[in-house]
Amino acid sequence: MEIVAHGLWAAAAAITAKRSSIANVRVGWTVWWSVFPDVLAFGPSVAVGMWLRLTGGVHGGHMPHLNFGLPLYPAAHSLLVFLLVFGVTAILARRIVFELLGWLLHILIDIPTDSFSYYATRFLWPISDFRIDGIA
Ligand SMILES: [Zn+2]
Repeated sequence: MEIVAHGLWAAAAAITAKRSSIANVRVGWTVWWSVFPDVLAFGPSVAVGMWLRLTGGVHGGHMPHLNFGLPLYPAAHSLLVFLLVFGVTAILARRIVFELLGWLLHILIDIPTDSFSYYATRFLWPISDFRIDGIA
């Protein structure tokens, strides 16, 4: 699913949660965490590509393919990484940070909606590369 849709689904979920519970969920932060996996995965490449374009480092109109050597996409879309961050954040904040559930929503939406031909979500990374051939 594309990034704007992730943000809108998270906003709808956060507004619904805010109206129906006593938990104080901040909608803006929930939306941020719902787009975070794709920002982490694609943001550095986009930022460097834009920088190179603005500074004249790109010739011929083609953006360079950048590889930072970091598994940003699978890390950002892993349920295990999410659970680790969610747990550590809850311990440090001494409360459940409900806004982080936007990140979980992103992963849960991507699992059945990303296909083998388009970033199938390796949601058990780094333990397993299992993924589902979803329907966009
Ligand atoms: Zn994603």
